Amino acid sequence: MKIIKTYKFRLNPDEKTLTLLKQHGGNSRFLWNQLVDFSSKYNEENKKFPNQILLQKEIIRIKKDNEFLKISHSQPLQIHAQRLVKTNLRSITKETINLRKQKIAKAKTKKQMAKALNFGKPKFKSKHNNSDSIFYPQNFKIKRSRIFLAKIGYISFIKHRKIEGKPLSLIITQDGEQWYCSTSCELKIKDIPKINLDKANIVGIDLGTKSFATLSDDTVIENPRTLRKHLKKLKREQKILSKRQFVEKQINGKAVKTSSSNRTKQRIKVQKIHRKIRNIRNDFLHKTTHDMINKYDGFSLETLDIKNMVSEGSKGLNRSISDVSWYQFCRILEYKSAWNAKHFVKIDKYFPSTQKCSKCNNLMSMELKNRIYDCHICGNYMDRDKNASLNILNEGLNILHTLATKEIYACGQPANQAGKLVLNLKTKRSKKSSKKLDSEQIKLCSVPNL
Ligand SMILES: [Zn+2]
Repeated sequence: MKIIKTYKFRLNPDEKTLTLLKQHGGNSRFLWNQLVDFSSKYNEENKKFPNQILLQKEIIRIKKDNEFLKISHSQPLQIHAQRLVKTNLRSITKETINLRKQKIAKAKTKKQMAKALNFGKPKFKSKHNNSDSIFYPQNFKIKRSRIFLAKIGYISFIKHRKIEGKPLSLIITQDGEQWYCSTSCELKIKDIPKINLDKANIVGIDLGTKSFATLSDDTVIENPRTLRKHLKKLKREQKILSKRQFVEKQINGKAVKTSSSNRTKQRIKVQKIHRKIRNIRNDFLHKTTHDMINKYDGFSLETLDIKNMVSEGSKGLNRSISDVSWYQFCRILEYKSAWNAKHFVKIDKYFPSTQKCSKCNNLMSMELKNRIYDCHICGNYMDRDKNASLNILNEGLNILHTLATKEIYACGQPANQAGKLVLNLKTKRSKKSSKKLDSEQIKLCSVPNL
């Protein structure tokens, strides 16, 4: 099986290379902003977005007008045309338009409204965010602990792990005062058959904010509460940042508002705390999923509608939901399961995992504060999350067994037809399960299971 693995390393540039990185990153940002400006003006005039050929022609024109762009390699600049076409197309999809409408309806202040109106549209990049990037589709080399970039040269990086596979592309990113390189590599891994379902040690996972995850085998993974631990410090530094002044400078005869040097220093401090939170969170997610992959043969998870939960919840709840990063956890567990031949199943969004009794299938309403599931029919008395994880496990096993039977049935047919069968089965299941529940129950089920 071929997979794409991404490696990220911290760069260790000397002063000369650092200046070059800043220049090239700045050029990339400048060109992107010029293109976004051109694209929005073109859209206003012609009621359509410019295509890739038109954008590429515009890049040539911008390069002619701005001599300083010549120090950059052409590929990292040309790639912006392709990226902008994709972003423009994404901004007019049904999903983005619906989300934009929701955000506009909720906007209260002028700032929120401006943000909502531009939701999903290509954005101008700011110099002050210190988040420049340079994308190399080709013309780069990775040698031991150094990378070679066309027109920049060799840069050493901190090689904390071995790179496997063939590097396809490379992206240089700035995060505050630090620079990183990420490379996507294509590699072949052995096709190991999955353990037979009847013998496999599969676990149901119920995600929550009180404890990060409750597993059906009684394991409880505690919530690291990364943000909460650093929130006090973050708030204090952000407060200082808000008090730091902007200064007016005369650039080419125009008065431009820029950060004072103290403000810049403070912003780097805040960025540093954000980076620390992000690193601790990622470390926790990778360690947890790694341990789980080693311990179990398969996983059954709920499909969480995080976007909806965040928009409906209170401020504190939203922060908790964003802090636990369920989406990242599910994503990492899913790809690691595929790499390690583990069973992985996501159950329907409307499956009433919290409301259902894991022993007699009775449905009853459960309020958020209700921590114990007390079934009045069979007398099942257990922790709310444990009950939910058992339901998730049972439903997951049902789906896996049905899929396995269908796959055996489809064995004699071409592979694509077998694939179709699996797909059909999935859609039928979700339709069935959503039909089963009446509207009142659906309302109940959409309450976040915390
Ligand atoms: Zn019961």
